[in-house]
Amino acid sequence: MTTTATRTKKEVQIVARYQFKNDARKVAYRVHSSDGRKEYTCFLFDGKATSCECPARKPCYHMIQLEQREQERAEQEAKVNRVVESDITQHVEDDITVNAIRNGKIVQVYWNELTDGEREEAVHNICFNEYYY
Ligand SMILES: [Zn+2]
Repeated sequence: MTTTATRTKKEVQIVARYQFKNDARKVAYRVHSSDGRKEYTCFLFDGKATSCECPARKPCYHMIQLEQREQERAEQEAKVNRVVESDITQHVEDDITVNAIRNGKIVQVYWNELTDGEREEAVHNICFNEYYY
């Protein structure tokens, strides 16, 4: 029996994501250490992980998995941006869902079910703000 055969894959635990307002290509993630006791900051530039504070050999699993997350996020943003750039009232894409508050609960709501104010907020959140997981 080998130890490598029983090793389980570590999943990155994200605390928060920060996007720099002066340069949207710069992104920082706060992540938990694998034992959950510490937090590290991992930096990405233009979708590529550039550094991580953890002591593991680089690229560490944080860097590898965060690059994947950024890739998925970029695809989602591209979808939303396409909707925003086109005429929203005439070309609503039905497959986009965002978090919205309904009856005091956070639920997934389709883009065309949002109010104008919520759409504006959703776009703002997706494109510029800090995100918490
Ligand atoms: Zn790391």
